[in-house]
Amino acid sequence: MAKIKTLYYCQNCGAQHSKWQGQCNSCREWNTLVEEVIQKSDNKPWNSEAAPNLKRTTKPLRISEIEVSKEERLKTNNHELDRVLGGGIVPGSLTLLGGEPGIGKSTLLLQISLNLNYRTLYVSGEESQQQIKMRAQRINPDSDKCFILTETKTQNIFQQIEKLEPEIVIIDSIQTLQTDYIESGPGSISQIRECTAELIKFAKETATPVILIGHITKEGSIAGPKVLEHMVDTVLQFEGDRNHVYRILRAHKNRFGSTNELGIYEMQGNGLREVSNPSEILISKNDEDLSGTAIAATLEGMRPLMIEIQALVSSAVYGTPQRSTTGYNAKRLNMLLAVLEKRAGFKLGAKDVFLNITGGISVDDPALDLAVVAAILSSNEDIAIPKDISFAAEIGLAGEVRPVTRVEQRILEAEKLGFSSIVVSAQNKFPKNNFEIKIQKVSKIEDVVSYLFG
Ligand SMILES: [Zn+2]
Repeated sequence: MAKIKTLYYCQNCGAQHSKWQGQCNSCREWNTLVEEVIQKSDNKPWNSEAAPNLKRTTKPLRISEIEVSKEERLKTNNHELDRVLGGGIVPGSLTLLGGEPGIGKSTLLLQISLNLNYRTLYVSGEESQQQIKMRAQRINPDSDKCFILTETKTQNIFQQIEKLEPEIVIIDSIQTLQTDYIESGPGSISQIRECTAELIKFAKETATPVILIGHITKEGSIAGPKVLEHMVDTVLQFEGDRNHVYRILRAHKNRFGSTNELGIYEMQGNGLREVSNPSEILISKNDEDLSGTAIAATLEGMRPLMIEIQALVSSAVYGTPQRSTTGYNAKRLNMLLAVLEKRAGFKLGAKDVFLNITGGISVDDPALDLAVVAAILSSNEDIAIPKDISFAAEIGLAGEVRPVTRVEQRILEAEKLGFSSIVVSAQNKFPKNNFEIKIQKVSKIEDVVSYLFG
């Protein structure tokens, strides 16, 4: 007879407590402890002895004996995902794909599974095999490498893994998994933690990469403890307004690469299309000359992106002027407004200012400053900025226009997309200037004002 034991888990941080108490010892949150039944059964989870073919033994090696090629990454045939991961999936790694329900996580991973050149096991606890087949038919019905399993018990999943010996395992989703080892229901903290631990053991012992889907709660954190994020090697976030056509994939944590890269997809009837030239979609194709828009040359990771900033400046109807931003740091906007007021004499204190980055993405790059300022001034003066001018510079507190990193890459992207000029800081130096695009150098806000509005 197994001994029944209960423990209290903090729903916020996942800390374990032996008795109930009002406040979590670990994260100091109140009323977050929930009782969960733990039953130790003798039914051992992942047992590598049962699958000797899958087991890859490791022994100590001299540094000179380690072959670098052993760390070959698995290419997914999906360039956006490969780039965000840092060049493909690392063998034996655990990747968590988080995002709000309905954003398209399953669509993305099913699509990737169906196009892989590796034997793939797609485990779904959310949909039946028939439902998945219906979705697969719209993507790649001829895939013969992808196996679909509808199962939620980890013990049964591992049995199937032993038979199939897949090269990649995908779990949709971690919240539906259940192990015999723990009594509490699926989706509870102890279940999520234990199932993830079993999968990690499997992944590390067999060098098989595992990708988990994790739903995000209303509060914006991945349902289940933060512990889950600490356990896995890579945390990817799939975001974008559900009403927007575009989806952004970014890494919040990456043990094998940078977290700066960004993947962009377009939601279409037959799945997600990779957007290989994102600058084109982020700039509206409006031929009219409208005031209040400016184009910034920004960088996301290694990739340059041209994005459109829209500003609306109007007299405040009510007493307190409103400041509102979408996709841009509100504190940064307030700072730029203060600089415009103090250093350039624009009276914006009594105006409402709304700022928006088009395409539903959010960008945090100081090189946006100049385009933000230009968009605000353009709206305030009601004079349109010519569509073929772009901007890449930071604004300092003294109203000076500051240089930005990797400016040549930004200039090249602007040139590639047919802009006729780009405004940068006079302090930006480049060794050789063989650009066709006109480079307008400015050193303070007044220079920008006279350049744009004469
Ligand atoms: Zn806690």
